[in-house]
Amino acid sequence: MTETVDAVVVGGGAMGTSIAYHLAATGLGRVVLLERETALGTGSTGRCAGGFRIQFSSEINVRLSLASVPLIRRFSDEHGLPLDVDVDGYLFLVRDEAAWAGYRAAAAMQRSLGARVEELDAVAAAALIPGLNVDGVVGATFGPDDGIADPSGLTYGYATLARRHGTAIRLGTEVTAIRASADGSRVTGVSTRDGDIDAPIVVNAAGVWAGPLAATCGLDLPLEPQPRHVVTTSGFPGAPTRRTLVIDASTMFYFHREGAGVLMGMPRLADAVATFDTVVDDRWIADELLPQAIGVLPAIEDAGLARSWVGLYEMTPDHHAILGPVDGLAGLYLANGFSGHGFQHAPIVGKVISEIVTGAPPTVDVSALRLERFARGELIGESHVV
Ligand SMILES: Cc1cc2nc3c(=O)[nH]c(=O)nc-3n(C[C@H](O)[C@H](O)[C@H](O)COP(=O)(O)OP(=O)(O)OC[C@H]3O[C@@H](n4cnc5c(N)ncnc54)[C@H](O)[C@@H]3O)c2cc1C
Repeated sequence: MTETVDAVVVGGGAMGTSIAYHLAATGLGRVVLLERETALGTGSTGRCAGGFRIQFSSEINVRLSLASVPLIRRFSDEHGLPLDVDVDGYLFLVRDEAAWAGYRAAAAMQRSLGARVEELDAVAAAALIPGLNVDGVVGATFGPDDGIADPSGLTYGYATLARRHGTAIRLGTEVTAIRASADGSRVTGVSTRDGDIDAPIVVNAAGVWAGPLAATCGLDLPLEPQPRHVVTTSGFPGAPTRRTLVIDASTMFYFHREGAGVLMGMPRLADAVATFDTVVDDRWIADELLPQAIGVLPAIEDAGLARSWVGLYEMTPDHHAILGPVDGLAGLYLANGFSGHGFQHAPIVGKVISEIVTGAPPTVDVSALRLERFARGELIGESHVV
């Protein structure tokens, strides 16, 4: 017998669990979240650095962060569930005059939207993180309200809240297709390996795997998997005491304190080539990441490597998410393509998707992020992609 529900959410990462909770909390009816793995948060969410920031270069990303970051910071107080959050800021170090002009313009835009962002000189930047190499730094921007939170904690927190509102969360359930009506004008549900589920609303929150899923109902999502390395170290003398996330804007090398050591990462040139391959490249870590790390924070030379892994960014051509309904296919909603900053936007995206589905005025106008922008050539720029 085919099961019938009011809404299906595909994907149990930060995004899917937030969407399921927010949808269920509207009183929409029976919401089912389907995750193909046997645990939640094992996709990009489980491999992410957990950073949240208001410092973006596009207005829409700043608006999403301004609405989302308070939901992360208030999560425990609001919901009575544990979530590790540190608000020690993000520090962008800029060593190039032309790039500095761009960072200052972005900071001015962020402030015009209500964000707190400071412009620092090299001395003030070094005072924040003792031991930081600020040679050649022409300026730095510091967002005191930016920080780091636990991706797994947020995902399981939203899953708990979703369950409390009646959502059924099914693990080990792969969605093999999104089904549409015979005339192709609306979705009718999904197919899984365990059978079909009928639903008038389907949300694709399948992360970097959203493209193949969307293709089953004839949609082409411009979405590429791009690998990113993360490396953690053991404790070392001179490790930063603050958890400020420091980014060297010339290479996008970043680090923050993790345990008694640091967590760090940097894009490789090869990462621009789309692949689902997540094999760790030890040679690149030794030859390129570590020299860069020591160049930015010389004390890292005395650190031992602890763990390394590779996760996948879900990149779109303009490094912005694909959000909202789809022209000509009623009932399908997309929450994809977060291009490396989806963890922090999961709270507000869940809320906004639930508002769009139920016809409530959205907290943030995300109409510029609809899929159709690619066909219209209305791409949006974002230079602060880490
Ligand atoms: C190394 C790294 C560092 C990052 N750092 C940050 C950061 O500091 N801050 C930040 O905001 N973002 C960061 N990100 C990006 C962030 O991790 C992602 O944007 C975010 O986790 C996306 O969440 P999601 O729920 O959409 O996707 P995912 O977490 O990938 O979840 C998608 C889920 O869908 C499931 N799924 C896929 N297909 C199907 C199917 N057919 N049926 C059922 N289930 C399916 C998958 O198993 C998966 O669990 C980082 C990413 C990486 C890789």
